[in-house]
Amino acid sequence: MNIVIMGPPGVGKGTQAEAIMAERHVAYIATGTILRGAVQEGNELGLQVAALMAAGELVPDHLMMEIIKERLLRPDARDGWLLDGFPRTAPQADGLLALLDGIGQRIDRVLVLDAPDDEIVRRLGGRLTCRACGHVTNLQRVGGPPTACSTCGKDALYTRDDDSEETIRRRLEVFRERTWPAAERLGERSALVRIDGRGTPAEVKQRIAGVL
Ligand code: AMP
Repeated sequence: MNIVIMGPPGVGKGTQAEAIMAERHVAYIATGTILRGAVQEGNELGLQVAALMAAGELVPDHLMMEIIKERLLRPDARDGWLLDGFPRTAPQADGLLALLDGIGQRIDRVLVLDAPDDEIVRRLGGRLTCRACGHVTNLQRVGGPPTACSTCGKDALYTRDDDSEETIRRRLEVFRERTWPAAERLGERSALVRIDGRGTPAEVKQRIAGVL
């Protein structure tokens, strides 16, 4: 199954993607994680994108298309994938649809998670990300600062540069202005389902299970 999960930053895409992955053996392709890996490595791509990411701005479409093309053509993506964080603009959506047409694939489901901005700002303010495996820990849920990642056990939790309140507001604006049109484009060709992202991860998971 080929799934795209979309939604504003902090709505719980990564958490729900982990839950979907636990049940389906598809390749998980999260462009934000790929880009953060490049920044951490300090390679050419990382140097090009670090400042944009820290400001909550989008990385140029042509770079994103190169990344996604290379990733979707790898053998592990042949039997299904879950895209998280891509596409984020209408040109990326069109580029993805053209790429998929070229390799004889299609999107089976587009999941759009949404929640009110204030809830998102509150959630992201308490978010820690694992530098080693990318797992997200929410301080409001664990009730006190953890020292190690609950998924990989490493002592590598940090606050992302782009999780400051000002940058979060900018990322939300970018989502509403530029990523909604991308969702609409995909919805013209594939089954798009809007999911209420409020509530606990288990509640949201159940809503998603009902539509997959
Ligand atoms: P995320 O982890 O999905 O919240 O992505 C973090 C940041 O990476 C975003 O705020 C953008 O700067 C950049 N990014 C990730 N995916 C894309 C994309 N598809 N297009 C442009 N920029 C992206």
